[in-house]
Amino acid sequence: MAGLNVIMMGPPGAGKGTQATRFARERALLKISTGDILREAIREQNPIALDAKARMDRGGLVDDETMIAIVRERLLRPDAAPGFVLDGFPRTVTQARALDQIIGERDNGPLVIVDVVVPEEELVRRLAGRRICSKCGVNADPFGGGSECIKCGGELVQRVDDNKDIVLERLKVYTRATRPVLEYYRERPTFRVVNGAQAPERVAHELDTMIDDAVNVGAAILRTGQ
Ligand SMILES: [Zn+2]
Repeated sequence: MAGLNVIMMGPPGAGKGTQATRFARERALLKISTGDILREAIREQNPIALDAKARMDRGGLVDDETMIAIVRERLLRPDAAPGFVLDGFPRTVTQARALDQIIGERDNGPLVIVDVVVPEEELVRRLAGRRICSKCGVNADPFGGGSECIKCGGELVQRVDDNKDIVLERLKVYTRATRPVLEYYRERPTFRVVNGAQAPERVAHELDTMIDDAVNVGAAILRTGQ
């Protein structure tokens, strides 16, 4: 069976992270977010990651080359062989090109790209209304009611930085940064768009069907060598 290699894209508030985590768990795949992978590499004293951390501590950003090296190292390990769900990578076309190369090296299944799309007004509603636990800081379920944290019972409060203008600016920054990456992938037969404005179970169901279909399409293309 072909490996399940999935990229989840989508703006903040689209529920992409939640769906990525769920899908990875249900299919027993590695879920890789750039934050996690950096932290893991730093824990393992990976010299590239330590260098990146030193730069970030001085207020710098992690450059493409560093991010690619860290992701590459992680994706070529044996536990990533059955596949992975990437969340937050690639962020640039340079990273996307490098990922194609890594996929070629792994030689295990096509790359499936899913874009979770939600109308801006719905994102603003979700993000500006986002609540966190005042005790443990966990994000409250945006679809759940209640005033208490399901983890620790703490009081749920509105996130202070989440007013409408800040949310709109965040979305603008995301769109600007991600558009070239989406354009890079859009024409591929393994590119899919899911309507993230639906109930999470509905999104999950559509995602599952879409990804399975895209993997089959991609695998057939790889077999015929087109
Ligand atoms: Zn809590």
